Amino acid sequence: MAEATIFGKIVAGEIPVEKLAETERVIAFPDIAPQAPVHILVVPKTTEYANVTELAAGDPGLLAEMVAVAQSVANEHSDGDYRLIFNTGANAGQTVFHVHAHVLAGGLEEGSL
Ligand code: 5GP
Repeated sequence: MAEATIFGKIVAGEIPVEKLAETERVIAFPDIAPQAPVHILVVPKTTEYANVTELAAGDPGLLAEMVAVAQSVANEHSDGDYRLIFNTGANAGQTVFHVHAHVLAGGLEEGSL
């Protein structure tokens, strides 16, 4: 079980967010420090997985559900095209160790990762 993180508190309702999408197992809300015109975080409600590698091994169906929610918020808040980023490990820029996907969309620079 991952340690309680800021996303665990958001999932528990202890920190309010603007929910842009919600399923039984996943929520999506805007990133507090957007790096693109549309920057949405897709977060599973379980605190069990710290990163996407653990999630893919432990519950691939939940990972697929996160991708479906990413597509749905990209459809709703942009033109349906999006970049999906899972920072995995501190040296890759991960700061919150509760698996989450960054959905970046809307006027992305061509050619950048
Ligand atoms: P990481 O660097 O772990 O891949 O991404 C964590 C993301 O969470 C960052 O983009 C950061 O801006 C965002 N973030 C951190 N704290 C909060 C918060 O309290 N609310 C929201 N909406 N986003 C947060």
